Amino acid sequence: MMPLSFYNTASRRKEVFTLPKGDNTVKMYACGPTVYHFAHIGNLRTYLFEDLLHRTLKYYGYGLNHVVNITDVGHLTSDQDEGEDKMEKGAARTGKTVWEVAAFYTQAFMEDWKRLNIQEPTTWSRATDFIPEQIKLVQILEEKGFTYRTSDGIYFDSLKFPRYADFAKLDIENLRKGSRIDMGEKHAATDFALWKFSPKDTKRAMEWDSPWGVGFPGWHVECSAMAMKLLGETIDIHCGGTDHIRVHHTNEIAQSECATGKPFARFWMHGEFLRMGTSGGKMSKSTGEFLTLSLLMEKGFNPLDYRLFALTSHYRNYLNFTWEALESAKESLKSLHKKTDPLIGKATAIISAEALQWQAEFKEAIGDDLNIPRALGILNSVLKTDIPEGEKATLVLDFDSVFGLKLNEEREDIAPKSDVSVEEIEVLIHARTAARASKNWKESDRIRDELSARGIEIKDGPNGTTWSYK
Ligand code: AMP
Ligand code: ZN
Repeated sequence: MMPLSFYNTASRRKEVFTLPKGDNTVKMYACGPTVYHFAHIGNLRTYLFEDLLHRTLKYYGYGLNHVVNITDVGHLTSDQDEGEDKMEKGAARTGKTVWEVAAFYTQAFMEDWKRLNIQEPTTWSRATDFIPEQIKLVQILEEKGFTYRTSDGIYFDSLKFPRYADFAKLDIENLRKGSRIDMGEKHAATDFALWKFSPKDTKRAMEWDSPWGVGFPGWHVECSAMAMKLLGETIDIHCGGTDHIRVHHTNEIAQSECATGKPFARFWMHGEFLRMGTSGGKMSKSTGEFLTLSLLMEKGFNPLDYRLFALTSHYRNYLNFTWEALESAKESLKSLHKKTDPLIGKATAIISAEALQWQAEFKEAIGDDLNIPRALGILNSVLKTDIPEGEKATLVLDFDSVFGLKLNEEREDIAPKSDVSVEEIEVLIHARTAARASKNWKESDRIRDELSARGIEIKDGPNGTTWSYK
């Protein structure tokens, strides 16, 4: 059997994955969502890849400490530390407070995870819950001489980290030459904000005291600070989408390794992008041109149709989204169910040498840098063999612990719980908040009743209104 191996972005090759001696728990950190808007199905593709990684590590018998962060502060609209805070922009767009925006989209995000049958991480870490840790990290970098101050913040001095360009294989000369004009007070284009001061003329909704003045942390700092606090100074696997390689992960490495003097992550794994249509357009949250899981459901798809669609391509390849391709994933899942539904409840504890052989092939496929498309092929082959039904049932259950397609439930059992889309819930809750503000209790009750009749319960709390399925 080939050993478990993953493609490591840091070395640009496949490497055997093992843990340091005496350790059996993988410390894994995945960059999570910025909760100023719904997650689009591209974001969800990345979380699905990370879910396959999570499930594969468990299949290989590892314990797992999996942290996913929720970015609820500091992610600016431009990677150059300029522009607005995405959260504050989200608040302006929806007329809510930043805290309400964060609470609402965090909940919507978690709902998508459940619908897609993505395993819960060990810890969800919210950036705003780790402000002291972020300040501490900046202090360490300051003491070690890696920072400087400008009129708008404290910056990381990337010239002091000679390996800065290595991870993303950046053409540093050209990069630094090319962007001299829009650098502001930064010493080099690759320098980045660790702490930003609140603008003098406007009061930010989210700001904290710090040794440098009132402000908020830069986006990159949160991941380093939380990963180190929750998992340790050197973690085993760090993952995210490929867009994070050039800036976000490069910066995480620079600040973490300068602070500790140790490697930050042993393996870096990145999921390739989902693109729109056969022409491969960009799906972007910031321009508002994106598809959500709820929209797919409104059009009659089961979230697991999308899960299977994502599983059919390797995580390191681009995947083009088309409605036709999703339709064909839906048909494939239906036909898979036709074969697996009759096997439900028939699994046997002991399986033959032939079944064990199929199991070994499956394990080898997923262990070969998560070759899920090959593993799906193995499942289809198993279903075509004439091994006894009970053994087939055992293999289906076993393989599905990685696929996560809920093949042990009849497809009819996994219909959406309500006909109201998450987008519609948002509009209705917003309208109700406005009705309450103008003391229009009749209208606010009407909205509550409408939601209730359609299977949605709402609760008013200190951070705004939350909802759940009844
Ligand atoms: P964000 O909420 O923008 O910080 O992104 C959340 C995650 O989704 C990150 O890991 C991104 O790298 C990833 N991501 C963003 N756009 C896409 C896309 N079109 N396809 C796949 N992953 C994406
Ligand atoms: Zn991150």
